[in-house]
Amino acid sequence: MTIPFNRPFMTGRELDYIADAHRRGHLSGDGPYTKRCHQWLEATTGASKALLTHSCTAALEMAAILLDLGPGDEVIMPSYTFVSTANAFVLRGARPVFVDIREDTLNIDERLVEAAITPRTKAICVVHYAGVACEMDAILAIAARHGLKVVEDAAQGIFSTYNGRPLGAIGDLGALSFHETKNIISGEGGALLAREGDLAERAEIIREKGTDRSRFFRGQVDKYTWVDIGSSFLPSELVAAFLAAQAEQGEAITARRLELWDRYHAWAAAHEAAGRVRRPVVPSHCIHNGHMYYLLLPSLEARTAFIQRMKEQGVGAVFHYIPLHSSPAGLRLGRAAGELPVTDDLSARLVRMPLWVGLEAHMDEVLAAADRALAA
Ligand SMILES: *Cc1c(COP(=O)(O)O)cnc(C)c1O
Repeated sequence: MTIPFNRPFMTGRELDYIADAHRRGHLSGDGPYTKRCHQWLEATTGASKALLTHSCTAALEMAAILLDLGPGDEVIMPSYTFVSTANAFVLRGARPVFVDIREDTLNIDERLVEAAITPRTKAICVVHYAGVACEMDAILAIAARHGLKVVEDAAQGIFSTYNGRPLGAIGDLGALSFHETKNIISGEGGALLAREGDLAERAEIIREKGTDRSRFFRGQVDKYTWVDIGSSFLPSELVAAFLAAQAEQGEAITARRLELWDRYHAWAAAHEAAGRVRRPVVPSHCIHNGHMYYLLLPSLEARTAFIQRMKEQGVGAVFHYIPLHSSPAGLRLGRAAGELPVTDDLSARLVRMPLWVGLEAHMDEVLAAADRALAA
């Protein structure tokens, strides 16, 4: 493949910061680089508490522990998402209840959420697909009416907003990803966002193996001990040092991704007018982060042929989620709230185009290849 689907972008300072962490001799978690990343995340998202984790998956697992979910409980979520959204809750014994997505944004259809609520429902876990926000006002209103918690899987959502509010910091808890396929990266990495209060305080304990170690280091208790369930969810300082270098360039990286996204969007307009593709829809109250550019082809067959023709021309275009509700584990461990026709239809027709910082130099080539793939 001459133009890969993804190529991780390095700012150039990552190794300097890792070398500095090495010099300081503090390699385990929660050192100076982790603190710097926490401050950056709190400033960027407005969340009162940000905690680095070793992945977004880990942050979602922490969220499921924090909400005290257990066997018999249900969590409403889209089927069109990554497996970690569901696994995090299944690991606590809870059952995912899959709801269909909207035609326009491919986000959970908030108009279908209320009908999926049962006496067992405890939470709604939304996913901001492609860094474009779900309809959070409607979702928060439903949650308030039924006494449910709201978790945001904002894995793709750093620097995106909904009505001016940063994603991940709108619900009760939010999870971000710094996996190398995301906008801001540390190889593997993530963060949990929480609002001031009980959840934020308990999150620190769960992340530190169920101990009050964080309070001990702040001098709030004179020895630390086992106080709750937990695990080791924090990354090493080496990972935090890498992320700190990325964080400094966060706005610049987002701006460059948005330029690429805009270029695709302008190019695809003619193909959309000719009925060959449908372009992504970004509602005017949502500011996105250029995480992903996708096209909806007319059929599964058209998508398969498009991906193949792009591959023949050396360009990596890929499909995305296989719906969870009809997967082997989804059938066994979850349940669909009725039919999910939009999920079934759109997931079969969606293709993601390459989008990474540095692709600028190859965009003419990518678009020419896509023109040929769509004309064939
Ligand atoms: C990437 C992603 C995850 C998982 O992130 P990790 O950091 O790899 O654990 C979860 N949910 C969504 C929607 C994602 O895109």
